[in-house]
Amino acid sequence: MNKDSLKKIISQSNNIVFFGGAGVSTESSIPDFRSTTGLYTISNKGSYSPEEILSYTFFINHTEDFFKFYKEKMIYPYAKPNAAHYALAELEKNGKIQAIITQNIDGLHQMAGSKNVFELHGSVHRNYCIKCGEHYDLNFILESNEIVPKCTKCQGIVRPNVTLYEESLDNHVLEESLEYISKAETLIVGGTSLVVYPAASLIRYFKGKNLILINKSATQYDNIANIVINDSVGKVLSNIL
Ligand code: ZN
Repeated sequence: MNKDSLKKIISQSNNIVFFGGAGVSTESSIPDFRSTTGLYTISNKGSYSPEEILSYTFFINHTEDFFKFYKEKMIYPYAKPNAAHYALAELEKNGKIQAIITQNIDGLHQMAGSKNVFELHGSVHRNYCIKCGEHYDLNFILESNEIVPKCTKCQGIVRPNVTLYEESLDNHVLEESLEYISKAETLIVGGTSLVVYPAASLIRYFKGKNLILINKSATQYDNIANIVINDSVGKVLSNIL
C-alpha cells in the first residue's frame, strides 16, 4: 500500500531530495559504528569508545592509535554500491532526484554514478596535509608504509577530510544541503533513525509536500511523515524503478 503511494509520488515529482544515513551503507556491509557498543582497547592506554577515538582531541593526542582504528574500522576499500545507491543514481539520471545528502563517508553514491552528492561528514577518499594542505587520495593512505601517513612534500600529517567529533560540519556543504532540502517538493529520508545530529535538525528545513521515511525501525518523525516504510532502503527503491 505505502509502496504504491511512494511509486506514485516519485512518478509525479521532479524535485526530490534524498537524505541518507548509515543504513544505506550497511547493505554494502559497512557497519554503522554508532550502533556498535563497547570499548576498544588502545595499545596500553586504556579503553575508549569509538566516539572518543574519532574525536579531534584523540587525533591530536594519540595520532598513531587514531590511524590504527581509522584504517581498520572506517575504511572499506572493497565495498561496492548496493541496490539503494544504484536506484538513486538512476533517479538522478531521470531528472527525479536533484541532490543526495549523505552522512556516510564511503563515496559509494559517486561510485554508483550519482553526481550531485553532498557529504555532510566528508569522505575517506579525500585527505590532506595538515601543514601545507596538499591533497591525497585513499590509495595514498592505504599504501602508506607508516601508521601515520606523512606528506611527501613537507612530512606533515595527512589526515582524512572526515568530520571528527568536536569538529563542525563543512559550512559550504551544510548550506547547500539546507538549500536543497528547503526547496524540495519531496524529501526521502533513508537509513537513518534520525537521532544523531545533524540528521534530526536538517529535516526541519523541509517545507515541501511529501516527506517519506524509509528505515528498518521506527523514528520519532514517523508521525509527521506522509509515508513511512519500515524496510531496507535498497529493496524499497529498487522496487520502484
Ligand atoms: Zn604537506
